[in-house]
Amino acid sequence: MRLTELKQLQIDPETHAYLVISFVVLICCLIGIATRPTSYLALLWPANAALLAVFLRFPHLNLKGGWLGAFCAYLFADLLTGNQLTLTLFLTLANLISVIVSLFFIRYFNINYKYYNTGFTFIHLFGIFAFAGCLASAAFAVFTLPNIPGSFMTKEQLWVDFGLWWTGEMVNYILILPLILAFPRHKEIRHFIYNRRHKSYRLTYYLPILSVMLCVLLTHIFVGPGAMLYPLAALIWVALTYRLFSVTMINVFVVLLSYHSLAQYYLAQNEIANSSTFISIRIGLFMLALSPLILCIISQNRNELFKRVLYLANHDSLTRTMNRHFFFQEAELRLKQAKKLSFSVIMLDIDHFKRLNDQYGHHAGDGVLQQFVELVRCNLRSNDLFARIGGEEFVILLWDIDPGEAQYIAERIRDLVQKTPIYQAATKPLHITVSLGILHREAPQTQNLQYLINQADQALYRAKHLGRNQVVLAS
Ligand code: GH3
Ligand code: MG
Ligand code: MG
Repeated sequence: MRLTELKQLQIDPETHAYLVISFVVLICCLIGIATRPTSYLALLWPANAALLAVFLRFPHLNLKGGWLGAFCAYLFADLLTGNQLTLTLFLTLANLISVIVSLFFIRYFNINYKYYNTGFTFIHLFGIFAFAGCLASAAFAVFTLPNIPGSFMTKEQLWVDFGLWWTGEMVNYILILPLILAFPRHKEIRHFIYNRRHKSYRLTYYLPILSVMLCVLLTHIFVGPGAMLYPLAALIWVALTYRLFSVTMINVFVVLLSYHSLAQYYLAQNEIANSSTFISIRIGLFMLALSPLILCIISQNRNELFKRVLYLANHDSLTRTMNRHFFFQEAELRLKQAKKLSFSVIMLDIDHFKRLNDQYGHHAGDGVLQQFVELVRCNLRSNDLFARIGGEEFVILLWDIDPGEAQYIAERIRDLVQKTPIYQAATKPLHITVSLGILHREAPQTQNLQYLINQADQALYRAKHLGRNQVVLAS
């Protein structure tokens, strides 16, 4: 069957949800079963956290079909391990309860999971799954399972089993939930692959992950109760360097291997290990995984904020062109760096703009400035600099260009502005013209930028005198 035929094959949403969810849950259960040792050391049970994360990330799967799929997959996987039907039923309910309760509270508090990586959303999500979902699941398990024939839980061990279940679930949620929520979208993966091909990373970029590996290796060489803290500093470095998704993957790696090392140590010295030791290890690992996640989210939020503030500081708020300060900074940098390239400075000034303001109002004038900028911008290349340096005065720095080409671009801008009617709400279409002065230079290092701009400005002045709506080349 061809791909197009497959796409045309319509599956109703309920069946689709059933198939996808049962597949995801079954795979996760099988991973859990495969890594489940005979003792109560079982740590990795990703199914519940994965189910919650998939429902959050793909709400269209949160249908009756999806829930039925999850139910069947839990039952099927558990029956495979040889448990009796009643026990399997209650185990399945215990698993589903953490997801049901977490989803209930996420809805109740109106938390938008899409913003899980901004502000306090992640902390709220974490609070809900840790102190509602996992808690409810553990309580349900310890109060029902010991009463079922053939159960591995006993009433004497109630509080221990409760602690083990609760903390084990929390570790699973802190590892799996962020991993699925932060899993890159199709567009991000493409962008990542493109970056990999076109950007070369320095060796220092890989140092944080290398140091994590080294610390994890150390946990297996110097085995002991302190091992849990070996990777902490490296994890902080990772959180401050990489993206959230990479941090979540590294977290899984560190927690599972540190757990392996700690379990080895405590198993070897069985006489000092008791249930409280394992509860303590799980809480410790949970905290170890939580810290880099929170740090990474805070650091990324700060970086985003810094970028936004920097953008606002460097650009004109009305037209989004560069402002005078940023233009001078960037242009001077380029003049210093590329000594052999030819370049052109173009000064632009809209004709009779005061008259337009007087006639149609300042607000209409603002709209005209914005649309004028769009007309100019579509004639420029991505590496040309374009800035607003006064009210209706702009400057362009064309880079690596010969004089004929620069004049052609200036002429094209002039022509386009003259021909394009500007539509404003509540007024008839407006027509504007622009005057331009150009200066061309072959050796940028010989003059300073302000001098070059003055020369282009004089050419612009002449264009105004010659009747406006024209391009004049500086001599
Ligand atoms: P000329 O053809 O000689 O350039 O005439 P002009 O009227 O365009 O020139 P002038 O420099 O005398 O006037 C510029 C006007 O631009 C004055 C000011 O009211 C207006 N202006 C400056 N900044 C803004 C702005 O941000 N928004 C609006 N709407 N108008 C602005
Ligand atoms: Mg003007
Ligand atoms: Mg002016």
